[in-house]
Amino acid sequence: MDFFEVKDGRMHAEGVALARIADEVGTPVYVYSAGTLRRHARVFHEALSGLDRPLVAFAVKANPNVAVLKLLGQEGFGADVVSEGEMRRALAAGIAPERIVFSGVGKTDGEMRAALEAGILQLNVESEGELRRLSAVAAACGTTAEIAIRVNPDVDAGTLAKISTGKAENKFGVPLDRVEALYAEAAALPGIRPIGVAAHIGSQLFDLAPLEAAYAKLGALVGRLRSAGQVVSRVDLGGGLGIPYDPKLPLPPSPADYGAMVERVTKGWDVRLMFEPGRLIAGNAGVLLARVVTVKTGATRSFVVLDAAMNDLIRPTLYGVYHDIRAVEPRAGEMVATVVGPVCETGDMFAEGRTITPVEEGDLVCLMTAGAYGATMAGTYNSRPLVPEVLVDGDRYSVIRARQTIEELVGADLVPEWL
Ligand SMILES: *Cc1c(COP(=O)(O)O)cnc(C)c1O
Repeated sequence: MDFFEVKDGRMHAEGVALARIADEVGTPVYVYSAGTLRRHARVFHEALSGLDRPLVAFAVKANPNVAVLKLLGQEGFGADVVSEGEMRRALAAGIAPERIVFSGVGKTDGEMRAALEAGILQLNVESEGELRRLSAVAAACGTTAEIAIRVNPDVDAGTLAKISTGKAENKFGVPLDRVEALYAEAAALPGIRPIGVAAHIGSQLFDLAPLEAAYAKLGALVGRLRSAGQVVSRVDLGGGLGIPYDPKLPLPPSPADYGAMVERVTKGWDVRLMFEPGRLIAGNAGVLLARVVTVKTGATRSFVVLDAAMNDLIRPTLYGVYHDIRAVEPRAGEMVATVVGPVCETGDMFAEGRTITPVEEGDLVCLMTAGAYGATMAGTYNSRPLVPEVLVDGDRYSVIRARQTIEELVGADLVPEWL
């Protein structure tokens, strides 16, 4: 559920007309709804209310804007980070280090040092080499790193190949059959205290069965680790729950269904459970607002050319996935349109042969469900400035990331004196 609705013929974000934001901030622009973010945060916490002190760490990569992180921090969320930059953003948002988890397959020594100096809760270790480097870094810092071993449970999450992370051939995690030896090695290494295990099998999951299969493997592993005399006090269950992008498709499992499954599968584990939702919290809480530059009749089809492009929202180009496209002031009737951006790539396409309400040059449209993996994946290809972000809360809004200026973009290049 979200708070983007047509009222009196015009789409609003909560109490603010999107046309007003377009006039005042310009397009393209990401618009987030604070009410939707809060609602999703509360629904997720509610779904886990049967668990003892779960830690919900928002996957920062889904939407790293510091204002968004601050809002989620106020809702009791921690942060799951995968780079020093993300960690700094979480800290800048006021999220306590004791609520920050550092994941990722390629942490550098510098990132490890920064994480240890910040005093974050836990690093999720993904390989033998990383464990040994972390031990050396922690020992040099005179500190002890609390770690979980990220397990690759070898389950097929049933999602797109590019966002599947829990199969044996994926780069993530330690193969299940090597975890016990690595845990024992960790327990013996200086500067390391293993406290648990973690898994994250993929994103945009529409089926709870693979998650349940992965969690069951973690549960059995916890039992084996304890039998071997190891201490296991936390298990990180990752993120990955899917959200509805295409209103024509069946709905994904609800947070409540997920919470009930988790409660059933983890009964008796006697650990603190951690969760890392990203898309589920932020996805429906944002839209990419764009203007129609022109409607062009090609030889075989009509193109609606927007002022937003693949550099602003890359998901359709990268994954071939669906984003609903809605006119901000819908007109009567229908048209079949191929909706594209102005970038010089044929792949710069938001929808092909899509039936939408008719649009004309100058109209505003929304690419829906763009609050996660939207602005965060934006770039400047074709020398297009980075897209701004706006947060709406009730009847007010603020720009939470300014549009990059052309001067900033060009000025970042350095020309050697010798040219
Ligand atoms: C990306 C990621 C998540 C979040 O995934 P969502 O599908 O957005 O919930 C959680 N944990 C890790 C380790 C990730 O890489």
